[in-house]
Amino acid sequence: MAAHLMHDTSVDTRTLQRNMRVLLDEARRNEDKYQRLQSLELLLLGAASMSELISMILKQYPQDFELDAISIELDDPHSEIRTILEDEGTDLSKLPQLMFSEDSIARQQKLSFSAEPQLGAYKTKLHRKLFANHHASLNSLAQVPLVRQGRIIGFLNLGSHDHKRYINGTATDLLQRLAAIITICLENTLNLERLKRTGLTDALTTLNNRRFFDQRIIEEVERSRRNTHPLSCLFIDIDYFKRINDEHGHPIGDKVLREVSKHLNVHMRRSDVLARYGGEEFAILLSNTATESAEETAERLRSAIESNIMATENDEPLHVTISIGVATVYPAHSILSIEQQSEQLIASADEALLHAKRNGRNQVHTSKPNTSN
Ligand code: GH3
Ligand code: MG
Ligand code: MG
Repeated sequence: MAAHLMHDTSVDTRTLQRNMRVLLDEARRNEDKYQRLQSLELLLLGAASMSELISMILKQYPQDFELDAISIELDDPHSEIRTILEDEGTDLSKLPQLMFSEDSIARQQKLSFSAEPQLGAYKTKLHRKLFANHHASLNSLAQVPLVRQGRIIGFLNLGSHDHKRYINGTATDLLQRLAAIITICLENTLNLERLKRTGLTDALTTLNNRRFFDQRIIEEVERSRRNTHPLSCLFIDIDYFKRINDEHGHPIGDKVLREVSKHLNVHMRRSDVLARYGGEEFAILLSNTATESAEETAERLRSAIESNIMATENDEPLHVTISIGVATVYPAHSILSIEQQSEQLIASADEALLHAKRNGRNQVHTSKPNTSN
């Protein structure tokens, strides 16, 4: 009897010890996971720019947490995030894991997503679009909404080869915490960027102002030099604008400025720089664009403005035309400094504009390339 008891106790002790080890192992794993999460969060909170933040999420996170696939979908109805990333030099075509949606509300209604992460089996048919390359071998998936003030602003999608990595019903508190940090970081970087840009925006037209243009032309010349691309510049001036003011009043003049701005804007690529350079003058930088295609763009703009008939207060039709000067530089082949090249580009476009005006307005004129530099 005593021996039997002894035996039982030792079995119990061994079972207890084993259970204890399992628990301790799990606690250690959790502790380790928690620490890795904390380091990642600190890293994200320290991101200096939008591109750095996105790159940390897409590269550092999968590495630290052995994820087999990751993607982010972000609401970006006005291309604001895309413009910031491109201005920072990110080539979005090389980042298929970063996706943008134009119509968040429609999508949210369709999927009726809750603010909770959705965990479960990966189904190729349903989820293929979430990841760029890894879809063939994935087995489980987490779709974590990025929630800001009760609104879903995007999704963090995580994929694993392991069936058991993301199982419906398991705890998601750490994922939700990471998603909250990511959301705050995104919002923070976006706000900083907006603040930087307010001093660089024209209030009447909401276009970039001359200060912005003068900064960007230096960056664009530098970039063109690096990539050995041509850089073109368009100088645009509204024809007989004083007359519009005189005949219809200043408020109509303002309206015309806003309308012209809007039309110029819709013809731009995201990588182009459009600014209100002065009163009724606009300037455009076309990166990686040679003279011929800059001329085509200019002609498209000229014709778009000409064919758009604006209405005045008393519904009188108002015909507005613009003159455009085109100039191109090849910064990589020049002996001039970046500042000199920027000045040369502006001066040449301005001179070409003067020619267009002298030749009768409502036309495009191109500056002769200066071969001496
Ligand atoms: P051209 O065809 O030679 O360019 O003739 P123009 O009349 O357009 O050129 P001019 O430089 O003589 O006149 C520009 C006018 O633009 C004068 C100025 O009062 C007006 N202007 C400048 N800024 C604004 C603005 O913000 N709002 C309005 N309504 N008018 C403006
Ligand atoms: Mg003018
Ligand atoms: Mg004018």
